[in-house]
Amino acid sequence: TLPNIPLFRALQSYDPASLAIIHSVTTRSFTYGNLIADVVRAKEDLQRKVAKSEGQLAGERVALLAENSYDYVVTLLAIFANDAVALPLSPSFPTGELQYILDNSQAKVLLSTEKYAQKAQEILQAGLEREPLLDIRPKITKGATGSEAVQLEDLKQPSSGGMMLYTSGTTNRPKGVLIPDSALAAQASSLLEAWKYAPQDRLLHLLPLHHIHGVVNAIVTPILAGSSIEFLYPFNADQVWKRFAAPFLPSKNTDATPPKITFLNAVPTIYSRLMSSFPNLSPEIQNAAKQAISPENLRLNISGSAALPTPTKTAWQQLSNGNVLLERFGMTEVGMAISCGLDFADRVDGSVGWPLPNVEVRLVDTETGAVIPPGEDTDSAGRAREGEIQIRGPTVFHKYWANEKATREEFVASDDGGSRWFRTGDVATRHPVEGAGKGTSGAWAKGPMYFIRGRKSVDIIKTGGEKVSALEVEREMLSLPQITEAAVVALPSEKWGQKVAAMVVLHPDAKSSRTGRAWGPMDLRRALRDRLASYKIPQEMKVLEAIPRNAMGKVNKKALIKEVFG
Ligand code: ATP
Ligand code: MG
Repeated sequence: TLPNIPLFRALQSYDPASLAIIHSVTTRSFTYGNLIADVVRAKEDLQRKVAKSEGQLAGERVALLAENSYDYVVTLLAIFANDAVALPLSPSFPTGELQYILDNSQAKVLLSTEKYAQKAQEILQAGLEREPLLDIRPKITKGATGSEAVQLEDLKQPSSGGMMLYTSGTTNRPKGVLIPDSALAAQASSLLEAWKYAPQDRLLHLLPLHHIHGVVNAIVTPILAGSSIEFLYPFNADQVWKRFAAPFLPSKNTDATPPKITFLNAVPTIYSRLMSSFPNLSPEIQNAAKQAISPENLRLNISGSAALPTPTKTAWQQLSNGNVLLERFGMTEVGMAISCGLDFADRVDGSVGWPLPNVEVRLVDTETGAVIPPGEDTDSAGRAREGEIQIRGPTVFHKYWANEKATREEFVASDDGGSRWFRTGDVATRHPVEGAGKGTSGAWAKGPMYFIRGRKSVDIIKTGGEKVSALEVEREMLSLPQITEAAVVALPSEKWGQKVAAMVVLHPDAKSSRTGRAWGPMDLRRALRDRLASYKIPQEMKVLEAIPRNAMGKVNKKALIKEVFG
């Protein structure tokens, strides 16, 4: 039996012969029938093993160390089916980092695939406070046809299962975020409504599986919708292009040709890496790939996890013959919160759109702490008012694991009898945009649109009594042809409190038009003069070979400042 929760009800309702998971490289594929049969088997197997040693699974953390694969999905669902808390780990993390997570989470079981069996052993050698039961799962082979119906069982107690994910650690040590089943269900149903995942969708999955983006947007929600998920792992830009192109090559061999990709969830750096490798493809693949990513074929291309630079969006639009990237804003603690709409007119440059269904958003003035009333989005001087994004509703996480202090600090009691608000730490402005939000994307996509200004702790720079958004300066810098990457930060300044500084990666041909020499800080200042108020223009500029980013394309600015500016 499986618990009677939306995910398993949905699984039961699909044609067992329809494809659930595909391994792109080997072309192995698994149907929904296989999936449900294997989940039942894995659930019972896990139960048996734990019963032998320590008993209960409900509410316990079960860590999972696995590559992007069918096995991962089966195991994830089997953990849910046991009413336990799935804790996906990143196989690319160093052992020490994984030990920290296992210790912090007090995981009861560590499941791993053959591929990471050795790494799993190494992790346990550290002597953790609570030694998890290690189980190297046998390779899950394609099960029986799996067409026999599985019983759904009503939960006797309220569910205690769900997921625990660690934040990306961009600003601090990663925090364990406990996301109950109910929040996962609310997050997925909100995405279903907004992005309309459908059984006909074929998603290309290129993301790591230990963050909300890769798990909720690209596994749980498509499974809830009966879509097909194709893992292309590890990420390789050439392979991605070839996969996109395959159904559109004139020479295609019809038997072996995979269907077209219709849906892509990615981070900005994936889009830019794809575009920079595009010129190396053969003309034949280029043509087919362009066709594959055009709006008629790739029906949805989404970007999030970090700010989408407008030049990336524009370049993708040109390459794809008019496909517009849909930007959204989300975080581990709340899932996806704000999103642009399905209508192209609802994908406004620099905006992350509107609060999703199930998500209540308010902006709180970062100076005064007062809620910015809807409709009063500009101050008396006509400037957009900045506020911290606060969120409540059924999608919000329960607590930070073993960190009462952070939990207490990041929630604010409500003043209207409703549930508490979560402080995201991200700052935004909000204003109506002409031509957008006419309701064609759905009833939720209307009213003023949100624009992210950055993290309160690192991106909002206070200089000489003015506030500068690092994201805004980066956006302007990236629109200069000489600059390919930019990270804007605050440095301490005796005179101004803080001053704006920039780290850049220059285009190989970037030369000063005045001196003919390498492009420098003077050139930057001149180039930005007409675009930004003088106090926003970086006073210092350092040229780097590359800007280091984590797997989600995020920059750890605190660490980078130390490294670059000492
Ligand atoms: P940590 O909390 O450990 O410092 P993190 O905040 O980077 O790490 P995540 O929960 O993975 O961990 O990331 C959420 C953050 O990513 C958001 O708070 C926001 O700062 C950023 N983010 C997500 N989407 C966007 C977007 N579209 N534009 C700008 N920033 C975004
Ligand atoms: Mg965070």
